[in-house]
Amino acid sequence: MIPLEEARAFVLHRCPPPVPADVDLRSALGLVLAEPVEAVESVPPFDNTAMDGFAVRAADTADAPVDLSIIGTLAAGSVSDREVGVGEAMRIMTGAPMPPGADAVVMVERTKASADDTTVTIEIRVEVGNHVRGAGEDLRSGQEVFAAGTVLGPAHIGVLASIGCRQVPTYRRLRVGVLSTGDELVMGTPGPGQIRDSNRDALLALLEAAGMIGVDLGLVSDDEEAIEGAILAGVAGCDAVLTSGGVSMGDFDYVKAVLDRIGDMRWMQVAIRPAKPLAFGLVDGTPVFGLPGNPVSSMVSFELFARPALRSMSGHTDLERRRVVAVSEGGLDRHPDGKVHFARVTVDYSDGTYMVASVKGQGSHQLTAMASADGLAVLPDGDGVVDGGAVEVLLLR
Ligand code: AMP
Ligand code: MG
Repeated sequence: MIPLEEARAFVLHRCPPPVPADVDLRSALGLVLAEPVEAVESVPPFDNTAMDGFAVRAADTADAPVDLSIIGTLAAGSVSDREVGVGEAMRIMTGAPMPPGADAVVMVERTKASADDTTVTIEIRVEVGNHVRGAGEDLRSGQEVFAAGTVLGPAHIGVLASIGCRQVPTYRRLRVGVLSTGDELVMGTPGPGQIRDSNRDALLALLEAAGMIGVDLGLVSDDEEAIEGAILAGVAGCDAVLTSGGVSMGDFDYVKAVLDRIGDMRWMQVAIRPAKPLAFGLVDGTPVFGLPGNPVSSMVSFELFARPALRSMSGHTDLERRRVVAVSEGGLDRHPDGKVHFARVTVDYSDGTYMVASVKGQGSHQLTAMASADGLAVLPDGDGVVDGGAVEVLLLR
């Protein structure tokens, strides 16, 4: 067996670098910037009012309350070239550009217009710049908006829209093929000895949750030729391929045999539980992850090996799930076996402390327990963690 870190380093080291590609802003969520983005416009583009109210000369309000004559109304989207003179006020709506002459806005709640709407009583004294949003207060033209490496979230998308950046220099969103292998697997109603294929859907969902495009490569039987054909088709059309099943010690575990033959492959027995076997290699330069078949193992293997590697191929530098130290409720039992165990746990955060508890059913075939797990508690080789003891946990959500 080899240590987890060695296996992970091996995989990460062999994965190709991210590929730059300009994408439409609408398709950029979750992607990583390959280049810095510069503002070619200022935001806001002009001085404007942050409030509905009256644009005035601040000096006119020095002896408030004071009556000023109303010279017009300015809506957002329109521009006034009428200057606001001494003793004058212009009614103005949020977002409208400041009219010339005015240097402050009095919010409507602090004003009272006359019945005939010719004068307004300004009730308070305001300073120059009151409720005025200055041009370029958010972004100045020429300024670097986001550095290379920035992960684009909804607010980043909004900022890019605000400066008219509709084509974004990102790293390409990965297309990752998913293949199931096993004579016992079916899509329809299982016959005697058969089960439904669940790994393919779970892995496609894990990819989608990771912001990648899952490509369904289908289900193949334990047949070398069929497996080879499916893997070759996969690497031809995808940035990476995930297979599940066929990498253990069984008589019909052909995935590792095929990868050995057509790829530059290493088969590893990693000192972890679940997900001990892993085949990883390059076929025609494309990474292929031979994940174990047991449903929980394939998901844990994805978390520990595929997800970090695929994130690095997407330009992320933060590859791992967040790790926190938690307190065990009820303890987490295990026995020494030379492996690090990843126990499925619920995670609750209360009063500044993470609390974890084992979910029922820690078998690698018990996928329902995986569904109720919020995290994977990391149990180093030994006897586990006692009730109330500290344990590190990888947060899955
Ligand atoms: P293997 O690694 O091929 O020996 O498979 C280990 C276990 O995982 C066996 O019980 C398989 O039936 C099961 N298994 C393999 N692939 C899948 C799959 N796609 N969906 C559900 N169970 C699977
Ligand atoms: Mg199998």
